[in-house]
Parts: sequence; C-alpha cells; structure tokens
Amino acid sequence: MRIFDPHIHMTSRTTDDYERMAAAGVRAVVEPAFWLGQPRTSAASFTDYFDSLIGWEPFRAGQFGVRHFATIALNPKEANDPRCRPVLDLLPRYLDKDAVVAVGEIGYDSMTPEEDEAFAAQLALAVAYDLPALVHTPHRDKARGCERTLAVVAESGIDAGRVVVDHLNEVTVKLVRDSGCWLGFSIYPDTKMTPQRMVELLREYGTDRMLVNSAADWGRSDPLLTRATGEAMLAAGFSDDDVDRVLWRNPVEFYGQSGRLDLSDLEDPAAVDPQTGNSILRGGS
Ligand SMILES: [Zn+2]
Repeated sequence: MRIFDPHIHMTSRTTDDYERMAAAGVRAVVEPAFWLGQPRTSAASFTDYFDSLIGWEPFRAGQFGVRHFATIALNPKEANDPRCRPVLDLLPRYLDKDAVVAVGEIGYDSMTPEEDEAFAAQLALAVAYDLPALVHTPHRDKARGCERTLAVVAESGIDAGRVVVDHLNEVTVKLVRDSGCWLGFSIYPDTKMTPQRMVELLREYGTDRMLVNSAADWGRSDPLLTRATGEAMLAAGFSDDDVDRVLWRNPVEFYGQSGRLDLSDLEDPAAVDPQTGNSILRGGS
C-alpha cells in the first residue's frame, strides 16, 4: 500500500513516527503551516517556522525515505492577532518556492471579520501564484462554517477543482461535494472521523475527489490512521485500486496542480511518459 498523507504536521512528531510511517507505506507528505499552540508574538517567528517547513523538515523526512512538501499561509486562528498580520506580506516570498505546493491552511476558526479578510486575501494569492488552496473548516458549528467557507471560495474566483475543504464529516460532506471542491477528511484516534466512518462515506459518495489525512500534530493524533483507513477499506470490500486512488493518486492529482510535485524518484515506471521520459506528475494536470 503506497500512502501520501496530504495533511500532517511533522514538526510536532518524532523520528519514531517517520520510521513507523515509512514502514506502513507512507512515501510522501504535505505539511501545512498552522498554529503552533503557543501564540506567536511577531512575524519574525513565522519566517523561522516557514524556513523550517521548506528546509529542515524535508531533510529530516528524507532520512526516512519520505518526500516532504509544504503549504504556506497565515493560519485562521492567528489571523486574529494584529501582531501576526504582517505575515501576509511575507507570503509571496514563500509561494515562489518549489517545496510549496499550495496556500494553506487558510479558512475559518471563529469566523471573525479579521479571518474573513485574511481568508479572502490568501485565496487571491493562490490565484495570483497559480497554486491550489488548502482550506481548514472550524471544528465548532461545522455546517455554518462550511457554508460560509464555500461562499468565500466561490466569491474569490478560484477554480473549485483547485481547492480542498478539510476536516469534513457526515454533516458537511454533501455541501462540499456539490461545490466541486475536493473533500478532505482528517481521521482521529477517538473523536471526530474514524476509519470506519470514513469507509461508510466512501461507500456512499465514492472515491472521486476524496482525500484522507491523519492531520497528526501535537494533540492526540496518530500518523498511521491513513494506513488504518486503507485496511478498513479493504476489509469492507474495496479493491487495492480503490485504496491506491484514495491514499495515493488523489493527493498526487490534487497537489500536482501546483506543477511542483516531482515524485519521479518514487513512481513506478509505468507512470512515466515513454515518449518524453517525463513524469506525468511534472507540470501537473
Ligand atoms: Zn492541520
């Protein structure tokens, strides 16, 4: 089973995790910039954090044979802190980097006017830099948060096929599916979405545009829940090809839209164009 975790915060995980992930089949990850728990007091802290997401962390992942990419943004929670707002001006410098495959995590935490503004500004950056966007949805008041999220996405003019709306559940899945956006599901150890509930959603809605992630961070979480979801799919009668689509080809297709997802060293030879020798992932579709 080959696995691409499209949303995981490796900064807060140990080398044991990298080892276990690699053994479980995780070959590539995307690490979105997020809130670190301790509020940051200046934009300079973000510079160091963003640099580590595109420098140190890919190096650390590489030691375990895991490819590491990042998404960069001012996260929704800290968008409310005036000390962090200047981060918006730092973003263009990072959105040009090859290791950055999307703008994210953006979206809503408490749905304040400050969050509205940062969300819209960063969707505009995604359009300007021709990058996909990773959108976080609030863990409270999910349906309302999701509706408002989709309205802002639609208003921004970004192609819905270049947006993933994340942390979905049974309440929000249909809304997002009807919007044309990609659907992100974070599988957690004992709250919110579980592997079993995910399997039910895949049964009902199919595998198209579906992304499964562990969203593992410094809270209670488990980087192997992508693998557990693959196992649960197989046990429920899904084929190996279905599992590969959800856990590998879907995230590759989504982030491949950045034109920066070079996985040529990981691919099976059949995925390389025999005419040009180029990886089909380069330049993305
Ligand atoms: Zn996250």
